[in-house]
Amino acid sequence: MISANATTAETAADEPAVETARRRLDRLAALVDVSDEYVERLKYPSQVHRVSIPVRLDDGEIEVFEGFRAQHDNVRGPYKGGIRYAPGVTADECVSLAMAMTWKCALLDLPFGGAKGGVAVDPRSLSTEEKRRLTRRFAEEMRSFVGPQTDIPAPDMGTDAQTMAWIADVYKMQTGDGTRGVVTGKPPRVGGLAGREEAPGRSTALVAREAARYYDYSVDGLTVAIQGFGSVGGHAARLLDEWGATVVAVSDIDGGVSDDDGLDIDALSAETGPLTEREAAADADEVTNDALLELDVDVLIPAAVGGVLTADNAPNVEASIVVEGANEPTSAEADAVLAERGVPVIPDILANAGGVTASYFEWLQNTNGRSWTHEEVREELDDRMLSAWEAVKESRETREVPWRDAAYAVALERVAESHETLGIWP
Ligand code: NAD
Repeated sequence: MISANATTAETAADEPAVETARRRLDRLAALVDVSDEYVERLKYPSQVHRVSIPVRLDDGEIEVFEGFRAQHDNVRGPYKGGIRYAPGVTADECVSLAMAMTWKCALLDLPFGGAKGGVAVDPRSLSTEEKRRLTRRFAEEMRSFVGPQTDIPAPDMGTDAQTMAWIADVYKMQTGDGTRGVVTGKPPRVGGLAGREEAPGRSTALVAREAARYYDYSVDGLTVAIQGFGSVGGHAARLLDEWGATVVAVSDIDGGVSDDDGLDIDALSAETGPLTEREAAADADEVTNDALLELDVDVLIPAAVGGVLTADNAPNVEASIVVEGANEPTSAEADAVLAERGVPVIPDILANAGGVTASYFEWLQNTNGRSWTHEEVREELDDRMLSAWEAVKESRETREVPWRDAAYAVALERVAESHETLGIWP
């Protein structure tokens, strides 16, 4: 195993995510050269909006859903962050995710702050028409606090490019502003960006490649296991495969497939349906999602859902490096176990930040009217990701902390310095 620096990671079990985020800030304050007062301010969101969304369902009944938008901090620019549709979404969950967006945007040096929103609904229980009505009414309720210069939502769990197109259209009806810069992640034919969809997977692959090189692994033949073969996992798998890595296992919600000699990622990607039933996996072994996390590989990329690496399975992780493609896949307890065992964990706020970075390009495209080619998006994305990687690497080496703390320290310093420059209003 690789030697990583010991961590003082949070270890409280079952603690609300927002409390964990606050305790992390307390700990990180010691690492950065900014006043504690401004760090204290950053423990709290600027605003949390809670709205009721009445929707007439296809059967004629009205159901009222609860929607949230947490705006954490906007000292570096307009609030930015996704909107998720998922059962059980809460205001607190949105606050902790909004905080993470503040750090992610600062780490990539984007002129944005952090926000996150959501509606407590199971999107699979709604027809397309019901989703359209829900989204349009939610957009109406958000009218007073979103806008291209104030707060810019994007897709997240359970929402997609179509959802963003509906929100952009409502905003245009409300304000007459047809630039569509109010949301990012739109379909390219209505102001979206070529290459936005592949961006978080691309950044995850880039960061995995740099991390492998850092620890003296050759990318050629690097063995990789990826949990989740959706947008992030699928694009990361295709790129790493293209660069010469051997992707030995991938999975979806129904389970995974593995082959020590490497899977045919292009052929797997060309098919749809459960991975275990695809023609291209006919000769592969089946592997459960739990077992995939414990495979003996060079790089493990959890790229499906949060909270999959826990105190229970972290002792069994055999990978040499973990790169977080998903948001928050590693619990604080698992983080501590992996650090103790010398397994470096490259954090989500760096690895999957290609998504918000491409969102920034989309927002620029909408607000200044100059469209970007796919090639320009890739080049600028790669440049920005590599700069962020270098900043985190330097932070890790000078501060002698694990990768996650190193990344958060870079971000916190940038945000807190901006606050320090302006002071507390008035
Ligand atoms: P997606 O819906 O495109 O793909 C998710 C994949 O994970 C699918 O293959 C699905 O079958 C699988 N999956 C779902 N639940 C699972 C479970 N319980 N166990 C194992 N596999 C499961 O989603 P995505 O956009 O690729 O997002 C994946 C993760 O990356 C999420 O944590 C998301 O928040 C994060 N992320 C996404 C973006 C983005 O722009 N797409 C950006 C940054 C971070």
